[in-house]
Amino acid sequence: MNRFLFCILSFVCTLFVSSATRAQALIAEEVSIQRQMEAVEAVALRNMLLNEVNSVPSAHMYPEWKNSKVHFNHSLPDSFRIDLRGFVMPTTNTKITDKFGYRPRRKRVHNGLDIKVNRGDTIYAAFDGKVRITAYQRRGYGHYVVVRHHNGIETLYAHLSKKLVVENENVKAGTPIGIGGNTGRSSGPHLHFETLLLGKCLDPALMFDFKNQDVTGDFYLYRRPGSKYIENGVVKIAGPEKKYHKVKQGETIGKIARKYGVEQEMIFKLNKLNSRSIIRPGQTLRYQ
Ligand SMILES: [Zn+2]
Repeated sequence: MNRFLFCILSFVCTLFVSSATRAQALIAEEVSIQRQMEAVEAVALRNMLLNEVNSVPSAHMYPEWKNSKVHFNHSLPDSFRIDLRGFVMPTTNTKITDKFGYRPRRKRVHNGLDIKVNRGDTIYAAFDGKVRITAYQRRGYGHYVVVRHHNGIETLYAHLSKKLVVENENVKAGTPIGIGGNTGRSSGPHLHFETLLLGKCLDPALMFDFKNQDVTGDFYLYRRPGSKYIENGVVKIAGPEKKYHKVKQGETIGKIARKYGVEQEMIFKLNKLNSRSIIRPGQTLRYQ
C-alpha cells in the first residue's frame, strides 16, 4: 500500500470511529436527559401526591362514600395527625351539658358532647368537607347531619330543628348546616356533637374547647391504644385516650376520682402529684 492511500484510509477510519464515539456520547446524553426528566417527573408526581394526601387525607383513607351508617368498623392507623387549623366552632354557645364517654347511671356510652343551644341558633360546619348524611331518627338523633372533612375526620350534628344542607353537598368551615333544636331523644334544646375517625367516635373535647371557643391546638395526634411509637428514642405503647378535667371551686382529687370512677392514686400519678398537693380551680387534671 502506498503511503498516500494509507493516510487516506487511516483518516477515514478516524472519522468513522470518532463519529461513532460521538453518536454513542449523544445517545448516552439523551438517555441521561431522559432519566433526569423521568426523575423530575417522578419527583413532581410524588410531591403532587404527597400534597394531595397531606391536604385531603380523607380522599385516601376511607374505603367508600356511602350516604348511610354513621358508625362503622374500620381498622385504625397506629397514629394519625388531625389538622385542626381552619376550624369554625359549630356553635357560639359554650355550656357543655354532657360529656363524652361511659354513663354509669344510664349504663350506656355517650358518643359525643352535648352543648346547650337555643332553638333557632345556627349550627356551623366545623371544617371544609362534604355532607355525607342528612337524616331523621325519631328515637335517637332527631334531625342530624354528618360531614366528612378533608382533614380526615367526620363530624355529626344532632337534635337539629332543621337541616340546611343536602347529601353530597360541599361545605366550607362555617357553612350553616342546620338550626339548633330538640328533635329525637332529647330533653331540651342542645347540640349533640360527635367527632369520628374512620367510623370510630373520639372525644370531641380532645379537639374542641367550647368553653373557650377554640381548638386544643393546630393539630391533634391520634394514637391507637396499644400501638407502639418511639419518643425520645424510647419505644412506648399508646395508652387509652387521655382525658382531662378542669377543676371547679371546692373540688378535691378524691371527688374528681369518684366522679369518673378512677383511683385517686391514678390521678396523682398522671399529674405528678401526691396527697399533699394543692389543686386550684381552673387547673386541668388528667384522669385517664
Ligand atoms: Zn348527646
